[in-house]
Amino acid sequence: MKSFVSKLPNVGTTIFTVMSQLAAEHKAINLSQGFPDYPCHPDVTQALMDAVAAGHNQYAPMPGIPALRQAIAAKLALQHGAAFDPDTEITVTAGATQAIYTVIATVLHAGDEAIILEPAYDSYAPAIEAQGAKVVRIGLSAPDYQVDWSQVQAAVTGKTRLIIVNNPNNPATSVFSSADLDALANIADKHDLLVLADEVYEHLVYGENRQHSVLSHPALRSRSFAVYSFGKTFHATGWKVGYCVAPAMLTSEFRKLHQFLVFSVHTPTQHALAHHLQTPAHWQGLPAFFEPKRDMLAKGLEKAGFELLPSQGTYFQLVRYDAIKPGLDDVSFARWLTMEVGVACIPVSAFYANGQDDHVVRFCFAKQDATLQQAIDKLSVLR
Ligand code: PMP
Ligand code: GLN
Repeated sequence: MKSFVSKLPNVGTTIFTVMSQLAAEHKAINLSQGFPDYPCHPDVTQALMDAVAAGHNQYAPMPGIPALRQAIAAKLALQHGAAFDPDTEITVTAGATQAIYTVIATVLHAGDEAIILEPAYDSYAPAIEAQGAKVVRIGLSAPDYQVDWSQVQAAVTGKTRLIIVNNPNNPATSVFSSADLDALANIADKHDLLVLADEVYEHLVYGENRQHSVLSHPALRSRSFAVYSFGKTFHATGWKVGYCVAPAMLTSEFRKLHQFLVFSVHTPTQHALAHHLQTPAHWQGLPAFFEPKRDMLAKGLEKAGFELLPSQGTYFQLVRYDAIKPGLDDVSFARWLTMEVGVACIPVSAFYANGQDDHVVRFCFAKQDATLQQAIDKLSVLR
C-alpha cells in the first residue's frame, strides 16, 4: 500500500523474543528474557481461582477495583510513610508496559522531546516516537552506569517535557542514590518537566543498597508518574497487571487515555492481587529470596571466566566476556553462547539505539536453583 507510512519504520522484533526463540530452538537454558520459571505463591493462584468461582467475571471499574486500589494505597503508605488517594492517584493497568505507554501518550505532543537514559528498557523510545515526539538519549556506560546529571541538564531544551528513569535499572542493575533523586528533582523543577519513574524492580534491591522512590521524594512526587508491575513483584509476568501512581491532575489526564486503551483490566486477577497484597511479607521477603540466587549464578559465572559487574538490583546479572571471547561483539557472543554452550543471555547493546557495545551480556537469575545449576554446569566448559 503506497499510502501506508509506518509509524515505527525501524522497530523489529524485541531482543527478548529473539533470544527466547533462539533458546527454544537450541534447547538452551533460557536466562535471557526476564521471567521466573517457578510457580507463583499458592495463596495468589488460589485467590485467582476463588475469584473466578465467585463470579468476578465482568468488567472491572475503569481505574481498577476499589479493593485493589485500597490495598495498593495501604502498601504505598507502609513503604513511603505518606497517604495516597486510591480514588484519584492510583490506576490499575495491564502491566507496567501499558502504564508506560499511557503516560508517554498522555504527556507528549508531536514535536515534544523526552529524555531517556541508555541502556534503556526497550519500550520507551518506540512509545515516544509513536507520538511524533523526539527521543533524546543520554548514554551510560559499564561498569557502574552512573548518571552524569550535568549531561541530562545540558540535554534539556525548550521542547523537553518528560524525563524517563528506571530505578532499579534494567539492564544496568544500578540503583539511584538519594543524591541522584535530588539532582533529577532539581532539573525537573528548574525546567518544569514531568518524570516517568519505572520502578517495577522496586523490591529487588540487594546488600546495602536501598531503593529511593520518587514517591518518597516530595518534590518529585508532585511531578511524577510512578509505574509498577505485579508480574515482577509476585512472580507472575503472564498476569500482566500493574499500576500507575500520580497526582490527581496527572491521573485524571492519564485515565482519559487509559479508558480508551484498555478501559479496564482483568477482573479476577485484580481480586486475587487485592487479597495477596494484604500480607506485606509477600513483597518484603523478595530480597532474601533473590539474593542467594544472584550469588549462586554470579559464582558460577565467575568460575566460568566471566567478569562480574555489580548487581545492585533487578533480577539480572551483567558480565563482561572479554576473557572468554576477546573482541567478539555482544550479539554474536550471545548467539554463540546460546547455540554452542546452551545458555541464553541478552546482549546489552540491544538497549542502546547506537548499538554501543561494551562487551557486556545480561543473565536472568529469577530461576529455580536447579535451572541455575544446569546453566552453571553448561558454562563450566568455558573454563
Ligand atoms: N519496565 C521494565 C524495566 C521491565 O523490565 C519490564 C518487563 N519486564 C516492564 C517495564 C514491563 O512490565 P510488565 O510485564 O508489567 O508490562
Ligand atoms: N522485562 C523483561 C526483560 O527485560 C522482558 C519483557 C518482554 O519480553 N517484553 O527481560
